[in-house]
Amino acid sequence: MNKKNSNPGLVVVGSIGLDTIETPWACKEGILGGSASFACAAASFFARPGMIGVVGRDFPPNYIQLFEQFGIDLEGLQKDADGDTFKWSGVYETNMNNRRTRLTELGVFADFSPKMPEAYRECPFVFLANIAPELQSNVLSQIKKTGFVVADTMDLWINTARPALLELLPGIDLLMINDSEIKVLTEESNIAVAARKILETGVKHVIVKKGADGSMLFTQSSIFALPAIPVLDVVDPTGAGDAFAGGFTGYLSKQNDCSEPVLRKAMAYGTAVASFAVESFSLEKLQEIDMDMIEERVAQLKAMTDF
Ligand code: AMP
Repeated sequence: MNKKNSNPGLVVVGSIGLDTIETPWACKEGILGGSASFACAAASFFARPGMIGVVGRDFPPNYIQLFEQFGIDLEGLQKDADGDTFKWSGVYETNMNNRRTRLTELGVFADFSPKMPEAYRECPFVFLANIAPELQSNVLSQIKKTGFVVADTMDLWINTARPALLELLPGIDLLMINDSEIKVLTEESNIAVAARKILETGVKHVIVKKGADGSMLFTQSSIFALPAIPVLDVVDPTGAGDAFAGGFTGYLSKQNDCSEPVLRKAMAYGTAVASFAVESFSLEKLQEIDMDMIEERVAQLKAMTDF
């Protein structure tokens, strides 16, 4: 874990929540989740992430300590003592690629007004993790845009806040989205056609996450694909996409480069971190790993794709 006490190398806004997860084999209640939690923990192996978000009066203090252990900068994390923390509950089928959202309670995120710490404003790498697109735009408007902005989203926002999401797109450099969601967003059933539609809006890069089937990067002139690392014992896939995106953006920040060869390598590092995230509930496995273990999985991925 990166425990350096320096300005953040990347800024992450997203949800910080208490999740209740049911898999075919176990059920966990009120565990640490949220897109920003997974993304910041994953990014922390490469750079110091600054977390922007809000927690409520019921947020356990030991989860704050855990963020600190990951070396996450918490100056942008607000506590709202008048409300409850964001809550999400999901149920997985035996085929863990299929999940159903049982509950989403925005809690303190419903009235959240992000306040950008001064030290974050000129940070070149920004990850707008999955949260209401209005909040993603709000954070973007407070940043002096000098570098690379990545944004993620999910079906809830595509269905309930589509105009705000479409407004966000021209301000970002890379849209990170999963395969079923890009189909809903673009109303296209073919991923390549859907990605082209997004590129036509002016977004220069699109990464389509395909869960256990890997990910694809689309630009105006190229397509790159990576498989996922086969994980034999998937405990809980929650947060895999956020861990992928956090590892990806953290790697870009560490390299201070967003050329296409670096984007491709960043996908490999994101894939490696995500493969650990699914081996436990919440951030448990990410607490146990180190950079050598991540490098081993990247080497495994390289061997798998070398022909
Ligand atoms: P993933 O499995 O990568 O889609 O991420 C799941 C995580 O995202 C969980 O920890 C949830 O707390 C969080 N989450 C679920 N729904 C939303 C939402 N509508 N907005 C923001 N975060 C969410």
